[in-house]
Amino acid sequence: MSALLDIVTLADLASPAACPRLVVKVGSALLVGERGARRGWLAALVGEIAAARARGQQVIVVSSGAIALGARRLGLDKGGRGSLADAQAAAAVGQIALSGLWAELLGDERLIAAQLLLTLDDLEDRRRYLNVTATLARLLDAGAVPVINENDSVATQEIRFGDNDRLAARVAQAARASAILLLSDVDGLYDRHPAQPGARLLPRVAGVTAEIRAMASGDSGSGMGSGGMRSKLDAAAIAERAGIALAIGNGHAERPIARVTGEGGSEAVGTLFVPRRRAAARKAWLGGRLRLRGTLVVDAGAAAALARGSSLLAAGITGVEGDFRRGDAVAIRSAEGVVLAHGLSEYDADECRSLQGRQSGEQAALLGYAPRRAVVHRDQLVVL
Ligand code: GLU
Repeated sequence: MSALLDIVTLADLASPAACPRLVVKVGSALLVGERGARRGWLAALVGEIAAARARGQQVIVVSSGAIALGARRLGLDKGGRGSLADAQAAAAVGQIALSGLWAELLGDERLIAAQLLLTLDDLEDRRRYLNVTATLARLLDAGAVPVINENDSVATQEIRFGDNDRLAARVAQAARASAILLLSDVDGLYDRHPAQPGARLLPRVAGVTAEIRAMASGDSGSGMGSGGMRSKLDAAAIAERAGIALAIGNGHAERPIARVTGEGGSEAVGTLFVPRRRAAARKAWLGGRLRLRGTLVVDAGAAAALARGSSLLAAGITGVEGDFRRGDAVAIRSAEGVVLAHGLSEYDADECRSLQGRQSGEQAALLGYAPRRAVVHRDQLVVL
């Protein structure tokens, strides 16, 4: 579903014309308090979701809180995050309670909850990604409210998203959503640590640049979730590349969605990351990939060619890192260490090592075969 109007202000997140499909991500610290699930708070949020639905918006929820909730029930220390085994056990106990709560409270608003538990691979593998897209589309068309979390009980360290901010961005991409609202325990992105004097909330950010990243402090304020501003900026970067707006707002407000969008003429409080460009769906998927199998280091000539939209040829490659196979996603990095692009390699890592620095005409002699002239073809490449 593509937006009819562009999202240019926080208020547009409440407009069905500009934002027909909204992903709302709810952090652990909002959902779980000292005495367990914050039912009253969640009921109020669900009321806002019902209001969004009533004005014609489709809503997908990405809900954290399984680990925090399960840890309380099992009496595990460190919020269940002391070890992977603790987190997995806590998530299994917490998730069943969490989904039950969402289903019940959405049900009170006459909305049908649908649960999806995803692992990283479900969204990194193209075929599975398309399956998720189809399931979400069907659920939304049927009028359900998908409630999504990471499948923490089976996801091991290597195959975890680890934070629901990036999960929300990838889900939004799969669902072709118009915007993502990350509800957290801060008002948005500040130009310096919010505790410092003179810190100013940035209402609008155009581009997650190095300067913007320098403003983020890494830690999650509550210590309960695994988010923090850094993972929110990662999510914003994925979203902006996919042509999706992303807002950060404070979930502690009485009506958090209304506060972020400035409903009823009040001031909108939050940070809006406006999308930079609308990449083609496949390229956006590629650009947002989190698991890259290796790296191709390139010289300045190749870097300039990539920026012009050319394919990556072996002649411009100066180094090959990792052990990847043909078809795997790799990062393309400059000699200075800047990641310039993501792309699908046409050759295995060892073949790339044989080819690096050589002309295309030499490929057949070097490998005994040369199915592709480019090492990464421009159609399989996204410049970041
Ligand atoms: N998936 C985790 C949970 O449900 C939360 C991850 C995060 O903190 O972002 O507890």
